Amino acid sequence: MKRVLTRVFAVDEDATSSATERELRRLANDLLDPDRPGDFNQAMMELGALVCTPNTPHCDRCALQAVCRAHATGTEEEYPVTPESDPIPHHDIAVGLVFSDDGDEVLIQRRPDEGLLGGLWEFPGGKQEDEESMEAACRREVREELGIEVTVEDPFYTLSHAYSHFKITLHAFRCRVAHGTPEAREGQPFQWIGLDELDDYAFPRANRRLIEELERRQTEPSLFDTPSGDDPA
Ligand code: SF4
Repeated sequence: MKRVLTRVFAVDEDATSSATERELRRLANDLLDPDRPGDFNQAMMELGALVCTPNTPHCDRCALQAVCRAHATGTEEEYPVTPESDPIPHHDIAVGLVFSDDGDEVLIQRRPDEGLLGGLWEFPGGKQEDEESMEAACRREVREELGIEVTVEDPFYTLSHAYSHFKITLHAFRCRVAHGTPEAREGQPFQWIGLDELDDYAFPRANRRLIEELERRQTEPSLFDTPSGDDPA
């Protein structure tokens, strides 16, 4: 009924506000047939459900077409007016694939049990800060989480991934330890593991895609420089 009224009267105020809802109730009361209020309400609801549909309303078979202001101006689908939905937040995430000197092992750490992706293993990393390059973000995050300085050798892979309330672009870099010994700066378990052991640990989906790429390049080393992918989901 709200959709029908905002279109017929071209109500261009936020239809979710209480002031507009009061105005719509007033309009509906003015139109109401006092002798058959039930039939009127039923007819309006059926009109909204079957004729004045959200997309592509069937104005050609609508009894209100002659008085409908939205139809007169061809703006039916602009009503009801609602506040623009917030854009989904997006974060750029730097990730360090920190390899051992012989290149056979990589550093992983376990997320806290509470919170998003709780208890899963991951490669160290985190959000890029303002005015920070992705490489600098990678070095900082590894330093903050594991207390080591790393040399960022080259970009490894970039991928997009969507969670329910935000999206990320994950930028992974191959790194080596420049100096220091890893320690759990945030109390998280961490360990060096062989590349052939990665499938034995539970990782979030985005990290799992990095592992798939690692495995692919181990078998197809000539493809090492293919540095990006989008989330198929
Ligand atoms: S004329 Fe079109 S927009 Fe207007 S009330 Fe009818 S179906 Fe809805």
